[in-house]
Amino acid sequence: MHNTTTIDLPTPARALAIGAHPDDIEFGCGATLHKWGTAGCVVSFLICTDGSKGTWDAQADVASLIVRRQNEQIEAAKRLAAIGEVRFLGETDGELGVDRNLQSKVAEIIRELRPQVLLGHDPWKRWRLHPDHRAAGFLCTDSVVAARDPHFFPEHGTAYHRPDELLLFECEEPDHLELVSKVNVNAKVNALLAHESQFESTHGISSVDSTEEKASFAENIFKHCRRSIPKAGPMTHTSPKTDNTTTSSAPHADEVHAEAFKRMTGL
Ligand SMILES: [Zn+2]
Repeated sequence: MHNTTTIDLPTPARALAIGAHPDDIEFGCGATLHKWGTAGCVVSFLICTDGSKGTWDAQADVASLIVRRQNEQIEAAKRLAAIGEVRFLGETDGELGVDRNLQSKVAEIIRELRPQVLLGHDPWKRWRLHPDHRAAGFLCTDSVVAARDPHFFPEHGTAYHRPDELLLFECEEPDHLELVSKVNVNAKVNALLAHESQFESTHGISSVDSTEEKASFAENIFKHCRRSIPKAGPMTHTSPKTDNTTTSSAPHADEVHAEAFKRMTGL
C-alpha cells in the first residue's frame, strides 16, 4: 500500500502555532501561516521559552535580550499577516519541560483560542538535538489531549475544545504539503528577517547591513520550500466538506513551493 500525501487543508477560521523559541514557527510553517492569514484565518502564536540563550555574546544582557526577542516575534507575526494573538509562556530557554502545570497552561490557551488547526514541532523526530524543540512538541501533543476532554483541568472555566487537525513541522515522516506562493515564501523570509538578534547565531548573517547575506539566506529558504510533485502519483487533495480525501489529477507543475508536515487528524 502506498503512503498518500495530502495537499492543502481548507483555510481554517482559526489556527494556533506553538513553537519552542521566537523564530521556530516562522522556520517551520511561516509561508503556510501567511497563506492562511491573507485568506482571512485568525492566526495566533504561542512561544514556549523566553529565548534567553539565543546569543553567542557571553556578555549579553539577558533581560533585554528577552524583551528584544518578544518584540521581534510580534513584528514577525505582523509580517505574516497574523491578526490573532502572540503569547509567551516565558519558560527559561533550554530548560523547557513537559509537566502538568505547563500542560494545563497550554491546554487553557487552546481552549481560549479554539483553533481548528494546531501546528507544532514533531516531538518524535529522531536525532533531534535541541531539547526545547522536543519538549515543545510534546507539550503541544499532550495539551491537545487535555484541551479536548472535559475532565482535564475543569478549573479552567472555559469550554473544552478539540482541534480538527494537528500539523507537525520539521517532521520525521511528512505526509502533508501546504502549497504556497512565492509571495508567501517572501513573507516567510521577511518574518524571519524580523529576528535580527538571531542573524549571527541562526541565520548566518553577520550584519544587519549585509544585503548579500540576506539574499543568500532568502535563497536558502526558497530552496528549502521547493518541492517536486509527481504529475501522476498518490497525491490527494483534502475536501472541505468531509474528512475524506479525494484523488486529484495532480494539476500542479513539477516544481512548486510548499511546506511539509506530518498530519494528524481525528484528534
Ligand atoms: Zn528553536
